[in-house]
Amino acid sequence: MKAADIRKTFLEYFQSKGHTIVASSPVVPGDDPTLLFTNAGMNQFKDVFLGFDKRPYSRATTSQKCIRAGGKHNDLDNVGYTARHHTFFEMLGNFSFGDYFKHDAIQYAWGLLTEEFKLPKEKLWVTVYSEDDEAYDIWHKVVGVPAERIVRIGDNKGGRYMSDNFWMMGDTGPCGPCTEIFFDHGPEIAGGPPGSPDEDGDRYIEIWNNVFMQYNRTEDGVMHPLPKPSVDTGMGLERIATVLQGKHSNYEIDLFQNLLAAARTAVAAASPGGEGFDANSPSLKVIADHIRACSFTVADGVIPSNEGRGYVLRRITRRAIRHGYKLGARTPYFHKLVAALVAEMGEAYPELRQNEKRITEVLKTEEERFFQTIANGMEILDAALATVETAGTKQIDGETAFKLHDTYGFPVDLTADVCRERDVTVDQGGFDAAMARQREQARAAGKFKMAAGLEYSGVATGFHGYEHLTVDAANVTAIYVD
Ligand code: ATP
Ligand code: MG
Ligand code: MG
Ligand code: MG
Repeated sequence: MKAADIRKTFLEYFQSKGHTIVASSPVVPGDDPTLLFTNAGMNQFKDVFLGFDKRPYSRATTSQKCIRAGGKHNDLDNVGYTARHHTFFEMLGNFSFGDYFKHDAIQYAWGLLTEEFKLPKEKLWVTVYSEDDEAYDIWHKVVGVPAERIVRIGDNKGGRYMSDNFWMMGDTGPCGPCTEIFFDHGPEIAGGPPGSPDEDGDRYIEIWNNVFMQYNRTEDGVMHPLPKPSVDTGMGLERIATVLQGKHSNYEIDLFQNLLAAARTAVAAASPGGEGFDANSPSLKVIADHIRACSFTVADGVIPSNEGRGYVLRRITRRAIRHGYKLGARTPYFHKLVAALVAEMGEAYPELRQNEKRITEVLKTEEERFFQTIANGMEILDAALATVETAGTKQIDGETAFKLHDTYGFPVDLTADVCRERDVTVDQGGFDAAMARQREQARAAGKFKMAAGLEYSGVATGFHGYEHLTVDAANVTAIYVD
């Protein structure tokens, strides 16, 4: 079953259960300052859960474009290391706004997986929130999942991959206990079942989260009951496609094949040595992942910059460029993947097709810019890595990381990404200190420069007063800094 058919089957299944099919919202949330990018299907319904907004339906289903590359849910560092994480992915979801609750949610999910998709029941594991006896009983007594495949999990056990059965959109907002469904990819893959000490392997992969929305968490940490208990679910399209296509890694599904091939071709064409790299290199996966995140972000109106969403976009783009560089690319190649992405996903997401030219141009400009400095920056970083490896310290100092950022346009997470490949870390505290010092100096210098050009810029652009001038000076500084 192709990813496109899975998306359709999901939406039609829930439509047959009385759900209205609602279009994905943009990856850039409209008016939610608490959120950098849309990170879950429920985001566009946040106010409906909170009782501030009403819709003509009480059941909805969506395939939502999500980005998890910053904020509370950040998977940027997982990409290329796990079989299941992307920066951009599609989340299939069904929602009840004060309509059905635990019973129906669980039975719909089980019905779709075992009857429509015909997954073998014995390969499915479920987790429930430790105190949620009701959910436990539905799984065990009503659905018939044996006790040995139901795991009770608490909240906030910490750790990067640790299961957490209390779902929160962010530090504030709708939240509640959840129950999750995992698929066992078999004993040949390392990793233990959910809740076990080695659960962070890729054997038991979480495919679907069903959240029982019951609270609104406010900034003071207090949980206020929602007007009506609701349901919010999310299943990664790429993860369920992986299972249904009999694969283990998300990157093996149909949706990624053409993108990976395009990445390989584009990198080889930009490399003096041609395709002198491993065709299975994780770097190709990172590139195929990142072209989706970058293109969808640009399509929704973001451009690379030095702050906020624009900086996240710049960081992802530059990480992708660096992975191509690692394979041998010495000239811009990344923007050439936009065409392949449009061919793959343009039908489901027409905004890609409509903006193809602009996306290509924006990414190309960013690439041209970074290719001017990447070679010198990599030389410095390689030398620093060689030094720490000889010294056995395993850490790059903050000054070097800052110089790479300041002079060569290496966001610090890019430097850390390179270092991690060699088991070296970056002194983040030292970097932050160098950055703070530079900001202070540059701010003073920027103000001075602007003050000197005051007459000219005031005449040319229409002077908006000193307040505006200060803001401009800060922006000039920021651009100059990078
Ligand atoms: P994981 O524990 O694997 O990081 P999660 O618990 O953070 O996943 P949820 O917030 O529960 O994920 O999101 C709901 C579903 O969205 C997950 O069950 C999974 O199928 C999918 N999903 C989450 N993060 C990603 C990602 N980075 N890439 C692809 N799919 C994802
Ligand atoms: Mg996660
Ligand atoms: Mg999880
Ligand atoms: Mg989860």
